[in-house]
Amino acid sequence: MNKVQCPICDAAMPGNWQEYPDYPFCTARCRKIDLGRWLDGKYRVPDPTSADAPVSSQDDAD
Ligand SMILES: [Zn+2]
Repeated sequence: MNKVQCPICDAAMPGNWQEYPDYPFCTARCRKIDLGRWLDGKYRVPDPTSADAPVSSQDDAD
């Protein structure tokens, strides 16, 4: 069985992915978030010096 997770909120998506109209996102909300990120990256000129720079605000609540 394939375990599908929403790429935005990591929510598990049980059942068939065909049941999700917003696949690969769990909801329309996550789809909007992804779209917003995409547009944000398109309209904003990325700073090559800070690309993939490690963010020091990582919170490992493990
Ligand atoms: Zn989601």
